[in-house]
Amino acid sequence: MRYISTRGGIQPITFKDAVMMGLATDGGLLLPESYPRVTGELLESWRGLTYRQLAFEVISPFVGDIPSKTLKELIDRSYATFTHPEVTPVVKQDGIYILELFHGVTLAFKDVALQFLGNLFEHILQERGEHLNIVGATSGDTGSAAIHGVRGKKGITIFIMHPKGKTSAVQALQMTTVTDENVHNIAVHGTFDDCQDMVKALFNDLSFKETYALGAVNSINWARVLAQVVYYFWAWLRVTDSGPTPVSFSVPTGNFGDIFAGYVAKRMGLPVDKLLLATNENNILTRFINEGDYSLSGVVATVSPSMDIQVASNFERYLFHLYKEDPFKVRSAFAELREKGRISFSEDEMRRVRAEFCSASVNQDQTLETIVSFYRETGYLLDPHTAVGVCAARELLPDHVARICLATAHPAKFGEVVEKAIGSQSPVPPSIASLAGMPTRCDEMDADLNKLRDFITSRVG
Ligand SMILES: *Cc1c(COP(=O)(O)O)cnc(C)c1O
Repeated sequence: MRYISTRGGIQPITFKDAVMMGLATDGGLLLPESYPRVTGELLESWRGLTYRQLAFEVISPFVGDIPSKTLKELIDRSYATFTHPEVTPVVKQDGIYILELFHGVTLAFKDVALQFLGNLFEHILQERGEHLNIVGATSGDTGSAAIHGVRGKKGITIFIMHPKGKTSAVQALQMTTVTDENVHNIAVHGTFDDCQDMVKALFNDLSFKETYALGAVNSINWARVLAQVVYYFWAWLRVTDSGPTPVSFSVPTGNFGDIFAGYVAKRMGLPVDKLLLATNENNILTRFINEGDYSLSGVVATVSPSMDIQVASNFERYLFHLYKEDPFKVRSAFAELREKGRISFSEDEMRRVRAEFCSASVNQDQTLETIVSFYRETGYLLDPHTAVGVCAARELLPDHVARICLATAHPAKFGEVVEKAIGSQSPVPPSIASLAGMPTRCDEMDADLNKLRDFITSRVG
């Protein structure tokens, strides 16, 4: 399988090169030249597979330049760190299927992709005799999942900045209790935007970027999307184990990465009725689907902070397909966005969007109410991100369809919000309880690009 850019400016490259490139060098995003076709018969033959076996079947046609045996080992190692034997189990509560994606080390679905990406990076770097220095900024979830994905790995050093005192306590501890030599936590005196701006400035300094082999782990890496395609197949197989039924997915969405993986599964032939894109008050994608209005506005802070995003970086991948793989249309759409703050769509385009997706925006009161009512009815606790998806599913998806809601985080990870909703403390899993007494390592820094440069140059691998 070879990979091309949504902006059309690179020659096709292999899977391993796509993983190492991350963002395409022409500023676009990488996508496979075509999607492997999964027929109904092939899908049925996967019913008896374990999660890891299924992951190999789904992922391998996209790879091509890693021997099967090695790829199997990388997949096995990535999912051995999950505490549930089924990796991402499906549980039924009150007529809704909950796809639990939070059994990884940091209790959020990002582990599914970042455990795999960490192992892939290590494998490719060792093979090439290279070293990678990952630099990133986080408001909480991505940073901790990335740190756990690469801790102790050969050939990789990671620098993650977070705004000091502005993440949740659990999120900060999940990062700073990782004391491996190749992990550098930096608590910045400033906001998340300050951290983000420093990363952007550093990556824009091309000679620095090249000299120090800087890399990123944000959600634009194709391998992250690919790892997430697997659990759509897995969940579909589990809810149809007891007989055929139409299936829809509800996906709490920020950067459009997770739901794009669902779109890929559908394109490969997975029979999905609708992909429900659920947003909080940051609802540009809901306005796009329901009103054809893709126009920028400000970011609002909510109780589901991992979805507080204005410009969804993976949306470009979907646009490329909506524009029938025409990179010139992608470029002119982004030129329009830059100039006018919006992208406009034709009626035909919107018809095709609505054939695949539906969408609802759920506000914070509805989110808290959903946590409470679901808990009262079932005794099952939803985290605020998952609650957004469940609320949207109840509103939009008919109940003759099997409704699968993606549970993107464990409720204890956002314990303060859950506690506020139900009025009592949610049970704390051992992986969080044990963080309290552990040694930590973290440097503090002012939001100063020169200080960051010095810090990195004195510690690169
Ligand atoms: C990152 C994240 C999301 C949003 O996922 P995208 O792939 O960015 O759409 C939703 N919920 C949680 C808990 C997250 O960490």
